[in-house]
Amino acid sequence: MTTTTKPTTFTELGLSPSMLKALSKKGFETPSPIQELVIREFLHNQSNLIGQAQTGTGKTAAFAIPIIETIQPNGRVKAIILTPTRELALQVSEEIYSLCGDKKIHVLAVYGGQSLDQQMRNLKRGVDIVVGTPGRVMDLMDRKSLIINELEYFVLDEADEMLNMGFVDDIELILQKTNDNKKMLFFSATMPSSILNIAKKYMGEFKTLKIQNKDMTTNLTEQIYFEVRDGNKFEALCRVLDFEQDFYGIIFCRTKLEVETTCEHLKTRGYAAGSLHGDITQVIRNKTLANFKSKTITILVATDVAARGIDVNNLTHVINYSIPHEVEAYVHRIGRTGRAGKKGIAITFVTPRESAKLSQIERITKTRITKQKVPTAVEVLSSKKEGLYAAVAEIIAENDHNGYLEMAKEITANGNAEAAVAALLRHVYQDSFLPEQYNTSLDENSYSRTYNNNNYTNNSSTVDTGDNTKLFIAIGKDDGFNPRKLLDFLKERVKTPARKVRDVKVMDKFSFITVPFDEAEIIMRKLNTSGKSLVEKAKK
Ligand code: ADP
Ligand code: MG
Repeated sequence: MTTTTKPTTFTELGLSPSMLKALSKKGFETPSPIQELVIREFLHNQSNLIGQAQTGTGKTAAFAIPIIETIQPNGRVKAIILTPTRELALQVSEEIYSLCGDKKIHVLAVYGGQSLDQQMRNLKRGVDIVVGTPGRVMDLMDRKSLIINELEYFVLDEADEMLNMGFVDDIELILQKTNDNKKMLFFSATMPSSILNIAKKYMGEFKTLKIQNKDMTTNLTEQIYFEVRDGNKFEALCRVLDFEQDFYGIIFCRTKLEVETTCEHLKTRGYAAGSLHGDITQVIRNKTLANFKSKTITILVATDVAARGIDVNNLTHVINYSIPHEVEAYVHRIGRTGRAGKKGIAITFVTPRESAKLSQIERITKTRITKQKVPTAVEVLSSKKEGLYAAVAEIIAENDHNGYLEMAKEITANGNAEAAVAALLRHVYQDSFLPEQYNTSLDENSYSRTYNNNNYTNNSSTVDTGDNTKLFIAIGKDDGFNPRKLLDFLKERVKTPARKVRDVKVMDKFSFITVPFDEAEIIMRKLNTSGKSLVEKAKK
């Protein structure tokens, strides 16, 4: 057996019994590298700190543990933590609260979107640690409800994101109203110069504690990329989702619109997907997150900012549906998987024009992102079939099918069991296990990196090309239709496969769909036969 150095324990860091108890209750066994560095530094020194380590490395507890250990709670704010989003404010406050153990510390999260009055009442009752977004913190300071001139600690969490979101001025305004003799801590996954500038201006002396990339949890994330044209992205996405039996992941898009359309398309194809972006209300957002955490939905389509700080473990995949502009965003995104000792896969879709961006990411992050092929229709189908066969075998092994034996007898009564099972599969799965389900042009038209970008035209696919037509159909909910039924109807009457149909919107009296130009012509021809015009082109 080879000898390895034993990891440091929380006990060895000299933490209090109350803290050790809280940590073991949370299931934290050993400190993460950034936690060890920060806690050690704290116990021996009183300098201001900048802590840099990748997303998911436990930065919250890195500052929370020493703060909880050192403050003497008396109901006057001793520590303030600024976070970029309300989601993070809540998450950080919950993490802090769970680490307080037996120590009677009052933690309060303050953020926009929640009643000011309520937060003012809570503050009045006495709070020791405040976690908040800059806007609401300033509001409460203006109202003299939040008083922060006896601070021991001032923390900026996700500092890079704070600056990205334009909070610099707010941060400075808040800082100017705090007492001088406090300790300042900035935490971030990346350290752009703008943060260092604020640090220099307000911290004076400070120490930087940094965990290098190689120690980061991304080691557990396999990074691959697919070369796909814009028009084939959605098909490629569906293939990945179908190929992976237990997909549980986040799909990152660049814009709100891309999030919305991708999520809608996924839902239309029957996937359990939800979306998050800046325009989604807090109520819906919380609901979506709860559904995602409980795996009621297993696919979350999100923008970078909306997904920031989401604390969901065990993700199998992160998909960069659109490669991010910023290398930092890439690091943040893939940091969402490969956590807590579990392996994860990050897949980036790269279009011909974006190959330089990919190289840049590889260079800056010093990682290799390996090229792989989008699973072919044949591969996806055989993976799906294997999954189904395994499930069937398992049900039989566990005798879980007994309740259906009577029906099986009925269905196979004519003696042709094979035909009966085939018909049953057809009925239950429709086209799901047939090659028609997939747009095979993707398989034929893969291109190499030497592809001439200037001659690049997208003619490979009927999906998501610019030549789409929006159709108005004079049937709707009142006629008993929903998106699924409308797709079935088109399939039956016109033989239009579901994959060609986009943006299905079923209203009470009518519906809209978007289909490729040629398909629109066919649909109108076939459905407008009886003199009555059931379908027409939607007015722009
Ligand atoms: P960061 O701020 O660096 O992105 P977080 O503080 O949000 O990371 O922590 C990521 C996840 O890891 C959280 O679910 C947190 O509870 C968990 N975690 C933090 N420290 C430890 C630890 N020492 N052992 C196990 N899990 C931890
Ligand atoms: Mg964090």
